[in-house]
Amino acid sequence: MSLKVLKFGGTSLADAEHFRQVANIIKSEPERRYVVASAPGKRYSSDIKVTDMLYKCYELSINEESVDEIFEEICERYNSIIRDLELDMDLSEAYAKIRLSLAHNSGRDYIASRGEYLNAMILAKYLGFDFIDAKKVIFFNDDGSFDAEKTNNTMKEYLSRHTYAVIPGFYGSMPNGTIKTFSRGGSDITGSIVARAASASLYENWTDVSGFLMADPRVVPDPKPIDVITYKELRELSYMGATVLHEDSIFPVRYSKIPINVRNTNRPEDKGTMIVPQDDAAVGSIVTGIAGKSGFSTISVEKDMMNSELGFGRRVLQVIEEAGISFEHLPSGIDTLSVVLSSKELAGKRADIMAGICKAVNPDNIYVEENLALIAVVGRGMVKAKGTSARIFAALAAADVNIRMIDQGSCEMNIIIGVDANDYVVALNAIYNEFVK
Ligand code: ASP
Repeated sequence: MSLKVLKFGGTSLADAEHFRQVANIIKSEPERRYVVASAPGKRYSSDIKVTDMLYKCYELSINEESVDEIFEEICERYNSIIRDLELDMDLSEAYAKIRLSLAHNSGRDYIASRGEYLNAMILAKYLGFDFIDAKKVIFFNDDGSFDAEKTNNTMKEYLSRHTYAVIPGFYGSMPNGTIKTFSRGGSDITGSIVARAASASLYENWTDVSGFLMADPRVVPDPKPIDVITYKELRELSYMGATVLHEDSIFPVRYSKIPINVRNTNRPEDKGTMIVPQDDAAVGSIVTGIAGKSGFSTISVEKDMMNSELGFGRRVLQVIEEAGISFEHLPSGIDTLSVVLSSKELAGKRADIMAGICKAVNPDNIYVEENLALIAVVGRGMVKAKGTSARIFAALAAADVNIRMIDQGSCEMNIIIGVDANDYVVALNAIYNEFVK
């Protein structure tokens, strides 16, 4: 029988009304068996997410300020859901335990994790599902990295004992039993881990948008939705700033080739976006999506006969590595080499890096250019298709945009273009219009 794992984000579980919608979705298909819950999110735009309130509580408590008011508000968020759903449930003991932990300065991650813990308990009760505490099934190593194998084995064992269950997202436990969270938005990762362990036929990620759009709607007016995208394409786009899913949430399901369907809790009739393995994705349009970010700098190094100097590139990169910065791109000419990196990371280290490179390779010239924006044009349809770059460059030329850098991934699935940050919006729209309209 096919089995589905569902993850609901914070806005999908922000109040009782949303709990009802979520229960309707879950109960409409018996194969929707394992549910991962986030903490209550914003109910309206000026509202505060419970996770943020918990972090605030933690900060107040370590500064020995009173947490009474905000803690009360948090409890009321949950109590109002319990009341409105008319559940026979009393969480006062759980609240008291958290309150006590705050007084004893328990870990920041522990406090933050209680947002999903409490919400998942309420959801389990409302659905009549079992509750599996994530601390028993999700594990981290001593160095804080995720322990995939131990988690997968233990999770499998637990799931085999529960036909229907709710699992809180976002956290797991360290070898010494203390609670650790993933990075923000990490419930997406929990969902993916559960889907892998359950050998699910589908991981449904329910949020407040109907999937991915081809471009950022703040930059391109009314962009088209993406029906199907591959894991690889998604990774390229999310790396370049497209958000909806946590970047790391793809890895566990990708491993077992489980598709992810991003759906909208408020519009369950929408099909959303399917994220699938490469082999399962028919090629539709040439370009799947376009994303971009500004805030990059270029360090350009020039030296006559650089090309014949063995180890030149390695020595330049070693300086960058020793400064603890990872580079983004490395466009090069015969006697020039440029390193593209994040301006934020470069700030404060710039003088040291310049001096280090001078010492390492004794260049004829070295300079930094700021204000670079990178745009990634991504599409499995680009592989072996002729003329895609020509169309991008012609569109940019027609829009009067100067291209400062070009990089095509060897997989031929992405073309990265560097433009002046001031040209970013015009450039992105020009590319979008060329391929989509
Ligand atoms: N509640 C956590 C956060 O706000 C995790 C999540 O929602 O995925 O980051």
